[in-house]
Amino acid sequence: MINLPDVNKVFISHSGGMDSTLVLLLAIDKYGKDNVTAVYANIGHIMSGDINATKDDAAHMVFNHMSSLIDVNSVIIEDSDFQSVDIHEADMHNMFAKIRDIILLKSNLPVETLPLFGITKKEKDIIDLQRLSVSADGVVQTIDIDAIEEEVANNPEKYSGVVNAYGLGNIRKHIPELLSTVYSKFSKEMIDEAEAGQAPIFNLNKADIIKEYVSRGWEDIMYKTISCSKPVDNLNCGICDLCNERKRSFENAGVADNTVYIG
Ligand SMILES: [Zn+2]
Repeated sequence: MINLPDVNKVFISHSGGMDSTLVLLLAIDKYGKDNVTAVYANIGHIMSGDINATKDDAAHMVFNHMSSLIDVNSVIIEDSDFQSVDIHEADMHNMFAKIRDIILLKSNLPVETLPLFGITKKEKDIIDLQRLSVSADGVVQTIDIDAIEEEVANNPEKYSGVVNAYGLGNIRKHIPELLSTVYSKFSKEMIDEAEAGQAPIFNLNKADIIKEYVSRGWEDIMYKTISCSKPVDNLNCGICDLCNERKRSFENAGVADNTVYIG
């Protein structure tokens, strides 16, 4: 069940991927396109297979691609001061709040415009995993890799998204400080957003999301969303971790994957 809040205007933090695009479409459906603004906040996440592409090129690529698919009012934040943010230092809570402020300032959106996020069950699962390493007073101490591995191994269904997207190899490779920073701050913020009704697909996994597109007849747009970390010419590469997660999600949903992959 997907519930969108009863408000007049929203903006969607939109990446061009499957999750946030579903929220965008749901919002247009509910509020009407004149009341929905899609925002691509360029925070330094490089989304381009062209090694020479700048972050702005990548942002424009996603923006132009998606706005050609979906007729919606859109804004790009090009000069966010988060473009060079170091994730190790990032305070994700403040980051969200500041992105919102920048968006509101630059776009002259009315202050009653509510931000919505494409936060999914995968993030919820990560929050659950994080709790394995939280002490009684709620502070993340040391990430207990063995405990996480055991939990994931014992519940492969539940954590499939987490394992696919992040990989325990990645957890080992990246240092615990990164995890504790991101998990403790970002996950708290995500729970707050979800509980405030600002994360309409919080209870859906990737397969659920695919089924939702199909049930609403939005497959054409779904197949053109970009999951990839290294897309070229608006096409998913088909070989990166995120593309593999995408492929597995179609399998799990029992839906044919008509995505055009480069590789
Ligand atoms: Zn890819």
